[in-house]
Amino acid sequence: MKRTKIIDLLDGQLIGQTVNLKGWVRTFRNNQFIALNDGSCLSNLQVVVDYENTEESLLKRITTGAAISATGLLIESQGRGQKVELKAESIEILGDADPEKYPLQPKKHSLEFLREIAHLRFRTNTFGAVFRIRHGVAFAIHQFFHERGFVYLHSPIITGSDAEGAGEMFQVSTLNLDNVPKNEQGNVDFKKDFFGKATNLTVSGQLEAELAALALGQVYTFGPTFRAENSNTSRHLAEFWMIEPEVAFADLNDDMDLAEDMLKYVMKYILDHYQEDLNFLEQRLADEEKTKPQNERSPLPLKEKLLFCVDNDFERLSYTEAINILKNCKPNKKGQFQYIIEDWGADLQSEHERYLVEKHFNKPVILTDYPKNIKAFYMKVNEDGKTVRAMDILFPGIGEIVGGSQREERYEVLVERMKEMHIPEEEMYWYLDTRKYGTCPHAGFGLGFERLVQFITGMTNIRDVIPFPRFPGNAAF
Ligand code: ATP
Ligand code: MN
Repeated sequence: MKRTKIIDLLDGQLIGQTVNLKGWVRTFRNNQFIALNDGSCLSNLQVVVDYENTEESLLKRITTGAAISATGLLIESQGRGQKVELKAESIEILGDADPEKYPLQPKKHSLEFLREIAHLRFRTNTFGAVFRIRHGVAFAIHQFFHERGFVYLHSPIITGSDAEGAGEMFQVSTLNLDNVPKNEQGNVDFKKDFFGKATNLTVSGQLEAELAALALGQVYTFGPTFRAENSNTSRHLAEFWMIEPEVAFADLNDDMDLAEDMLKYVMKYILDHYQEDLNFLEQRLADEEKTKPQNERSPLPLKEKLLFCVDNDFERLSYTEAINILKNCKPNKKGQFQYIIEDWGADLQSEHERYLVEKHFNKPVILTDYPKNIKAFYMKVNEDGKTVRAMDILFPGIGEIVGGSQREERYEVLVERMKEMHIPEEEMYWYLDTRKYGTCPHAGFGLGFERLVQFITGMTNIRDVIPFPRFPGNAAF
């Protein structure tokens, strides 16, 4: 008999029919009531066992974590809580789980402990909800861009250019580390390496996306990116997924509109389609917040927070305006910031971003027109010669979620910027070609996928929204 998923049974349409269920036992009470979960949704389905007519040896094997197949009549539930339950006629154990050894006993486990057993944590309510929503976020992103006629571009993961400058890179090599070939100067001879040159894992697909956008019009990447930066924070991973749209004939305002529309679209999609999981995560977050001091708690419950972001315009202001706010704010004057803002030109730290978003504006903020010295070479220089057409979107509790810009389309200005920033022109000839042949205004941004999933699920640590997190000192599983 073909199995029916729990999600398809809950509405009660199949009451009175014989169905087969397959899943994993969450709990087994009184030798009678199995709470079965099959991952199709957060809810378990109650399977009622006729224990008087079931062999003792079988009952003993119905333990937390075991995989079972149950066939029987779907009936209206006798107890409270759920509409339907399964009156089992036959039960088959598909896979035992020794209760003496199974690490995931039905009790509260800390997220830290669950990270150590990441191969099993999918079986908890929290991670089931997080990974269903992670899927929903990815799907909604693809749908958003598809509806607008964007082309999904697969930029390379192994890259031969190291000039992107977005972060420290992981080297890719098949050279024998115990006996590395050297050239006449005594340096590593990458000519003997797999690709005949030094290669790395990509930190961003933006430059490739620009090449495609200047022919296809609107493209986006959605793939893994890698940063070998030694940052042990709750917002950084060494391997994370990034979405990078790039649009021809667009300026910075178009870019901000696109990013804001996309973020709202995705949040609305999750609010509309993942009610049950969101309700659960909202309660989880509320419980976690109770352990924090009052002033660190977020002012809104999870769903209200998402709804607020969907319904309100993001606050847009320039870096210069932000610096003026920060210079004169209380924590700056009282020396409560770790990095005191003194002059225009300072790079904003996460404490400053959080002040703007969480204390001053209390909503998502888009900062624009940063000093060119703290931004990348490819951003369009403003008429003032000091700032660039950059934008960062800052979210409460997360900080930077999007970084983007209008690109410098003027060949001479771009070459000048590359010289200033010591970026080798010869190596980047392919990038410069786009400015030589049919250049045009264009803009794009990078969205950190896990940071968005973090915001939507209310998970505090980024390591809990990706199946197997990679961070300094950890590549388990
Ligand atoms: P941050 O200052 O937070 O380190 P960044 O300036 O290095 O970010 P970008 O290079 O602009 O970030 O990357 C684009 C987006 O990718 C960021 O807005 C963020 O959402 C995400 N991101 C960047 N680094 C990481 C990381 N190590 N782990 C997860 N997401 C990241
Ligand atoms: Mn960074």
